[in-house]
Amino acid sequence: MNSGKFVQPEPRNTFTSYQPPSSHSLVPHPPIPQQSHIGPVVPIGAVSFGPYPQNVFCPTCNQQVLTSTHKKSGVLAWLVSIGCCLFGCICGCCLIPFFSSITLDVEHSCPKCARKLGIYSKI
Ligand SMILES: [Zn+2]
Repeated sequence: MNSGKFVQPEPRNTFTSYQPPSSHSLVPHPPIPQQSHIGPVVPIGAVSFGPYPQNVFCPTCNQQVLTSTHKKSGVLAWLVSIGCCLFGCICGCCLIPFFSSITLDVEHSCPKCARKLGIYSKI
């Protein structure tokens, strides 16, 4: 007869150290302080600016204002301009992106105190 001891196989350690995907940690998000009251005033950091003037709260004037917009050459204008130069457009065509509203960013500022409130970037 088999007099040997019955050795139970050791349970496999299936609990491996789980490492969460680090793709979300590439962009640092500042912690958003939780406020007990939610009013109609939207803080500047939470506003996503578009290409047109919009109502935001100016902390300097301490009131709701309609932003005044200014076109400004941004990253996209430079990229298109450099791209034009690379493809041989050296007769001034590379300057077109700096005058075209398609490639320009839109800067939002307060019409009263001229404080820069945000920017609508094409990239
Ligand atoms: Zn202002």
